[in-house]
Amino acid sequence: MSARILVVDDIEANVRLLEAKLSAEYYQVSCAYDGPTALAMAAQDSPDIILLDVMMPGMDGFTVCRKLKDDPVTRHIPVVLVTALDGRADRIQGLEAGASDFLTKPIDDVMLFARVRSLTRLKLVIDELRQREASGRRIGVIAGAATRLDGLGGRVLIVDDNERQAQRLATELSVAHRPVVESDPDKARISAAGPVDLVIINAAARGFDGLRFAAAMRSDERSRHLPILAMVDPDERSRMVKALEIGVNDILPRPIDPQELLARVKTQIQRKRYTDYLRSNLDHSLELAVTDQLTGLHNRRYMIGQLDSLAKRAALGGDPVAALLIDIDHFKKINDTFGHDVGDEVLREFGLRLASNVRAIDLPCRYGGEEFTVIMPDTQLADAMRIAERIRMHVAGSPFRVAGGKELLTVTISVGVSATLGASDTPEALLKRADEGVYEAKASGRNTVVGRAA
Ligand code: GH3
Ligand code: MG
Ligand code: MG
Repeated sequence: MSARILVVDDIEANVRLLEAKLSAEYYQVSCAYDGPTALAMAAQDSPDIILLDVMMPGMDGFTVCRKLKDDPVTRHIPVVLVTALDGRADRIQGLEAGASDFLTKPIDDVMLFARVRSLTRLKLVIDELRQREASGRRIGVIAGAATRLDGLGGRVLIVDDNERQAQRLATELSVAHRPVVESDPDKARISAAGPVDLVIINAAARGFDGLRFAAAMRSDERSRHLPILAMVDPDERSRMVKALEIGVNDILPRPIDPQELLARVKTQIQRKRYTDYLRSNLDHSLELAVTDQLTGLHNRRYMIGQLDSLAKRAALGGDPVAALLIDIDHFKKINDTFGHDVGDEVLREFGLRLASNVRAIDLPCRYGGEEFTVIMPDTQLADAMRIAERIRMHVAGSPFRVAGGKELLTVTISVGVSATLGASDTPEALLKRADEGVYEAKASGRNTVVGRAA
């Protein structure tokens, strides 16, 4: 998997070295020699990963990283800090600035590529979600502002059979999160399918194979998107690489430094909340696209799609599809007398009555304005007429209470009913016959059901 990588370092030889290594593995590399240039390039070219030197004159790497993370345009790009110092304070400062990880000079190639591959894979997911969200915004089905996405108060599942180590982790995490310890991997699998924000796995557990556990989580639909932190001894390099290959999101080197733990946990939880947020926006946007906002019924677009496939099925020899077209009588008068808001209330109440008077397999929809349809799979005309009659009576039989209970309105409907007539019949013809039924019902005095057999 290739990726576009921005390398930032004030020393040209360092840039060239990284560029050579990465290009040899077919990554596309661009370079910047100072912080401000890096920020501009990040915003403009939106690279997949930024490898950022810490020690630079003017603006140092920590500051650049913080600025990248503060800007919604560049926030999602993972940053790996490249540092000559391996000091603890620098690691903490970098993680707190939002860096995903560190590489120490001289750079270990195996670790470099393991990291780059893992970050590329993770970023791909976010990119996909961001893209779909952006198109949702363009067509207007996503309007929500960005939510608060801090990385605190997370539900953290610690999977470790080393009780003392697990308890210490839990205690350290409990200052900002809600940790739970599980020493039995089978029980942990069940917990991981529940409401959890992050799983920390001891990759060197005695009683079970931590990496196997991580791999199983990745292949399980319910925990596939859950971030995983793997505790690994820093000298176990091949295990670290393996962990990243399997798809763990980050490595927690042992012995575990409490501040580093908190910083890495926070980063993972933040990222999870962001992807959750994008995902739920998408679910919501899909729902919006097929739902009528006033009544909560399905909309016309959805109805047409469903009717098409049902009609095709019926044409292949199944029972007919029936359609009701329902038009509220003298609805304009309700608007004119009581106002548009009361008109809306009537539409909503009608939607409720409609939905509660059809069978579970039927599809009540708002066709538009004060017109509604019900699509009925596997239904003969006579049965559809009976259901239509039941709806008509249920509407006319008890008045609608509106305007905060102040008004009681008697509402009536005119209903046209049709059913498919064999293989050559089309959805359009079906709806047209139902519409002719409505016309006839209106002409005959309204509050009536008229079926159209042909
Ligand atoms: P008929 O018995 O012949 O059906 O008469 P009608 O008044 O129901 O029919 P007409 O088509 O003349 O008027 C429908 C009215 O429905 C006109 C339109 O302003 C109103 N309307 C359409 N959509 C909405 C809506 O979402 N809310 C409200 N309050 N009114 C709506
Ligand atoms: Mg430097
Ligand atoms: Mg009407």
